[in-house]
Amino acid sequence: VGGLFGPVLGLSGVYKTLRTAQVSVEEVYGILDAQDALGDAPDAREVLGLRGDIRWDGIRFSYPGGAPLLDGIDLHVHEGERLAIVGPSGSGKSTLVALVQRFYDPTDGVVRVDGIDVRKLKQIALRRQVGVVFQDSLLFNESIRANIAYGRPGATRAEIEAAARAANAHDFVSRLPDGYDTVVGERGSRLSVGERQRISIARTLLKDPAILILDEPTSALDAESEALVQEALARVSRRRTTLIIAHRLSTVVDADRIVVLKQGRIVEQGKHQELIGRGGYYASLVEKQTRGLFPMAA
Ligand code: ADP
Ligand code: MG
Repeated sequence: VGGLFGPVLGLSGVYKTLRTAQVSVEEVYGILDAQDALGDAPDAREVLGLRGDIRWDGIRFSYPGGAPLLDGIDLHVHEGERLAIVGPSGSGKSTLVALVQRFYDPTDGVVRVDGIDVRKLKQIALRRQVGVVFQDSLLFNESIRANIAYGRPGATRAEIEAAARAANAHDFVSRLPDGYDTVVGERGSRLSVGERQRISIARTLLKDPAILILDEPTSALDAESEALVQEALARVSRRRTTLIIAHRLSTVVDADRIVVLKQGRIVEQGKHQELIGRGGYYASLVEKQTRGLFPMAA
């Protein structure tokens, strides 16, 4: 094991501890990244059973030494809502959702989940209740079964398979000579990106988080693989608060609400048709995309 895992393994057993705790790869990185800067407050609470109501109140944020990135964000996402976030690359979309997991604290303002300031929540408990699917999913160099089971320690074989079916992974896994016992290689290198995404979705289904973050989950996929991943994502996001960052129009049209970020602010929000009707910035992004300028750019 080297590369990305190198420094992680060097961290005096933290990695091993987290592995024993069976948190996902994303959480391992999240926790390790954040640990230097952010610790739990002494009075942080371990709140379980979060419903997934999220508020960003008066949020300003800059990275250390960087220019202001988020410049007064007020946003309330309701339990079960499916919110799409669009905007040019570098407009702060990933940072906005990272604040929900408390990878960073805002420079000003408060992020609340179920009305509780996330700085008052134990980070491990918070992140257990947030599922994340990125552009590419890192897997552990272990069996497919073990990789899926990180979503819910102690899951049975039947539960793991059911999750894999719902994630459109069961068919490809069954075709492998070793099936669910297939060891995936470093960071999952023996699987394609689309296969890794579906394993990650199966894991997230088992995890059953209150909040789901999808950060450009299909942007590295070919069309065939995208359709399978999209279908799996639709299943995993059902009945839970979902924040989708997407640069493909097809992914955002049926969101309950679309929020458009530009230069650190929300410049428009509404449903796809409303925003098109308004003929503003969103409409211009869509126009560019339909003219073949792809992805949706500034
Ligand atoms: P988006 O997801 O909309 O493309 P990001 O939130 O990823 O935007 O990033 C916004 C800006 O913040 C970019 O200019 C990026 O370079 C910068 N940035 C992102 N992460 C970090 C970081 N960890 N440290 C410093 N700057 C960062
Ligand atoms: Mg991003």
